[in-house]
Amino acid sequence: MNNREIRVRFAPSPTGPLHIGGVRTALYNYLFARKNNGKFILRIEDTDQTRFVPGAEEYIVEAFRWCGISFDEGVTKGGPYGPYKQSERKALYREFAEKLVASGHAYYAFDTAEELSALRKQFESQKKTFTYNAEERKQLKNSLTLSVEDTRQKLLSGDPYVIRFKMPEAETVKMTDLIRGTIEVKTSVLDDKILFKSDGMPTYHLANVVDDHLMKISHVIRGEEWLPSLPLHVLLYEAFGWEAPQFAHLPLLLKPDGKGKLSKRDGDRLGFPVFPLQWTDPKTGEVTQGYREAGYFPEAFINMLALLGWNPGDERELFTLDEMAEAFSLERVGKSGSRFDPEKAKWFNHQYLQKKSNRELAGLFMPVLQQNGIMADETYVEKVVALVKERVNFVHELWNQSDFFFRAPESYDPKAVKKRWKSASYDQMSELKTLLAAIDDFSAENTEAVVKNWIAEKEYGMGAVLNAFRLLIVGALKGPHLFDIIALIGQEETLRRLEIGLHELGKKEA
Ligand code: GLU
Repeated sequence: MNNREIRVRFAPSPTGPLHIGGVRTALYNYLFARKNNGKFILRIEDTDQTRFVPGAEEYIVEAFRWCGISFDEGVTKGGPYGPYKQSERKALYREFAEKLVASGHAYYAFDTAEELSALRKQFESQKKTFTYNAEERKQLKNSLTLSVEDTRQKLLSGDPYVIRFKMPEAETVKMTDLIRGTIEVKTSVLDDKILFKSDGMPTYHLANVVDDHLMKISHVIRGEEWLPSLPLHVLLYEAFGWEAPQFAHLPLLLKPDGKGKLSKRDGDRLGFPVFPLQWTDPKTGEVTQGYREAGYFPEAFINMLALLGWNPGDERELFTLDEMAEAFSLERVGKSGSRFDPEKAKWFNHQYLQKKSNRELAGLFMPVLQQNGIMADETYVEKVVALVKERVNFVHELWNQSDFFFRAPESYDPKAVKKRWKSASYDQMSELKTLLAAIDDFSAENTEAVVKNWIAEKEYGMGAVLNAFRLLIVGALKGPHLFDIIALIGQEETLRRLEIGLHELGKKEA
């Protein structure tokens, strides 16, 4: 076992968009593989045709491409253990199911859906629940109760049947989970799960175990919701006589508030995405938000997810994918669920945005400017970005923080006017205009010194003057350091805005 090559897989079912919990599971697999010089495989588990959703597989592939999580083998990539999509491996599962029947670990069951549902009703009426288990199978229509000949006849006549696992009676299954330690479950509480369906397809359990074996998976790292399936999987490995992989079941991502698993409804309720990319439901046309479209950088998204359940053992919070892979270990994955924090997600994006160069941010901001009808010089945009980036979490928020660098106010915030445009303001701003018109060096340092001197000499109120000035330049009481703004927009534009503002706001009667 120990010198087995490290091979892990992410095995989603294409039943809809991938939840961020799934992205985190894939990420931990990816990091584990990289840390241990192993291989990471993407396998599509699409044996349940009733749950197939068109577009879901493409969505999954695109989501990982966006996140920067790459696979060594898998769908779209190929590899020595392909095909990597279970529907394309359909032909091989029957043989494995039959093997288990032959060795006495599984059996044919001929009970029809109607018969089983009648039984379920009958049990319910006695306030009991029906389970197809070691006890009940003795009374049901299967190859354990029928004679060899009857069974053969039924199979030959083409009667629909399933293959069920023959759960051992009164045993204890001992399992080891790398995160939870030793787990023991009594087989008496387990049922005889279907392994092979009447439609000729394997169920999840059979296909999953067979493929993990054939693909030489060394570690199964998956969500905690699969822990109840572990006893069956362990028993299947035993029944086949195969060495089982090691298992690690990851704790859930929890709601930001209250109890339970993070769901799409929480995202809708609290206004954050729970999917990596936007998703359009092919049936209803309903559009669900994604992190990409919300303006997240993939590096920030991945960094945020990594720390929801894993900790590096020190205070670091910002990691590149390489650094994460270097620091990752399953020992540092917690046992309890991690509460999702939408504010912290924004914080991560903020951090990554600050780390980007002004040039890169300017490049990203250009299309937003264009959408707002602004054609600007990129070096100018770079300077603007430098002044306002601290105030935003997302590139698209730059516009709200900087529109006044690109156009004169079209209106003046009425609340600010009421508060800051005083009876003295008109004369003070006219004087300021004259003062600024005479300045040769229009750098922020110089204009600031000149203006502040003038305010002091005249014994005007510093706040009153600067707020009225800001109002005429910006149109509101927002934005970075006022003298940085006028230095950037330049002398001519500053004077023009003062002129327009004086005209628009006029002299207020005392
Ligand atoms: N197909 C399962 C899923 O959709 C895979 C579970 C596993 O990793 O074993 O999550």
